[in-house]
Amino acid sequence: MRNIVLTGLPGSGKTTLGLAAAELAGLDFRDMDAEIERAAGMSVSEIFAAWGEARFREMETEEARRAAEATGAVISTGGGVVLREDNMRLLAKNGFIIFIDRDPTAIAGDVECAGRPLLAEGAARLFGISKERRPLYLKSAHAALANDGGFQEALGKLMLLVNGEHPGKGFGVIGDPIGHTRSPEIHKAVFAAHGLGLAEGSGDAAAWDYKAMHVKRGGLGAFVRAARESGLRGFNVTIPHKQDIMDFLDDIDEEARLCGAVNTVVIKEGRLTGHNTDMGGLQEAIRDAGFDYGGSRVTVLGTGGAAAGVAYKAAACGAARVRALGRRKERAEALAANVRRVAPGIAEEAGADMGTGAGKRGGLARRGEVLGLEMSPDALAEAAADTDILVNATPLGMEGAGDFESLGFLEALPRGALVCDLVYGRSKTALLKKAEEIGIKGINGLGMLVYQALLADELYMGRTLDRRRVAATIIGRFSR
Ligand code: NAP
Repeated sequence: MRNIVLTGLPGSGKTTLGLAAAELAGLDFRDMDAEIERAAGMSVSEIFAAWGEARFREMETEEARRAAEATGAVISTGGGVVLREDNMRLLAKNGFIIFIDRDPTAIAGDVECAGRPLLAEGAARLFGISKERRPLYLKSAHAALANDGGFQEALGKLMLLVNGEHPGKGFGVIGDPIGHTRSPEIHKAVFAAHGLGLAEGSGDAAAWDYKAMHVKRGGLGAFVRAARESGLRGFNVTIPHKQDIMDFLDDIDEEARLCGAVNTVVIKEGRLTGHNTDMGGLQEAIRDAGFDYGGSRVTVLGTGGAAAGVAYKAAACGAARVRALGRRKERAEALAANVRRVAPGIAEEAGADMGTGAGKRGGLARRGEVLGLEMSPDALAEAAADTDILVNATPLGMEGAGDFESLGFLEALPRGALVCDLVYGRSKTALLKKAEEIGIKGINGLGMLVYQALLADELYMGRTLDRRRVAATIIGRFSR
């Protein structure tokens, strides 16, 4: 693994950005100046005072040689490292060098930098150094990262680079947190099954690479700008960005617009188009289990992005009744009202009246109903008794997210019902175990995850795939 080597002026953010990036990516962090200080037993200023700059530069080259031996580390360099070409040659051997380009005026005005020895001599010295070194930073770097916005913006750009997403390459998934994601395994398996991205070191391998990329809330704008510039070919989107990403796209397809969430973005000729393959993915997994939304009574637990998509898709596919149960009643009601407004099947059947809003049951009764309810024990039991397909679209059951207080409501389900738990971290959540115990069929979120990835890959690859066959292989491998 190549090192990520950060260069730039003192105060440009090399150490703070480097530390944060190393932590997010699970890499080692090395601060060259701190290593020199540790070895010498004195600070850089003391070394300068005692032995002079020439000796310090010798020590810096020795440290560059040691640092270059590292693999997969984020290395923060001293501001003057570029003064010796030898240093940069050493660091470039196994390093991707990123110049953190921060305006000296911003550094001089930054209270965090006020105590730096360089600024003690006045801002004029910093401007002089910048004039002398900027050409050297630019010349020796593989990429320049403009640190001209906030910290999160710079970190978003850096993460894209840290994850190997520099010009002209591959795919990935963005989210926060992102450590748990299985998307890289799945997409790489799909690409490999179609002979793509196999030759290590070739252009094809890079073009079909797939990485997890940690993008924090608020970092989306910076990420999208960097993605456009880098030549990234597409990316998947997970919590918490599925709704927010829509503000940054050039086009959004109809299903994603109606679901109110995007999980797949295709980048072509600089344009970003958003799609939603989650709901199609779940539908495929439900079909694999021998069920269909058409004519079914569907109950979804949760009122977030996934729940809204399930409710919309079920309604659009002609479900006999759709209930959304949430811990906040107003959110459940809003979700149901929105589905009643947008689901094409309902609007069509109900006529012009139904297109205008909730509550006009006359039209809906012919086709079905979409209801939003509070997730109380009574409402759960009542809904379960009138359900063919129950979908858990809350994080309950996910490791660390808590669990249902009681699963007694499952007893009310008709025996021929299906329970789908979108949680995919564990093969059997408490919900699925209980369903099995009482003889009700259950599926976890893995099928949905794999199918949504396959549908995304069809968009990335521009062709239809033998989804059932590939999904069966991947699900089989992951379930072992
Ligand atoms: P989201 O937008 O954050 O929505 C989460 C929903 O769960 C919200 O309605 C939230 O209620 C509710 N919730 C959270 N904690 C709860 C608790 N302790 N008790 C009751 N309700 C609670 O997330 P999402 O994108 O819809 O995802 C939901 C779940 O689906 C996640 O577990 C996710 O991993 C899973 N998922 C799986 C796949 C797959 O491929 N298998 C795809 C997408 C999503 P409030 O609104 O009141 O906070």
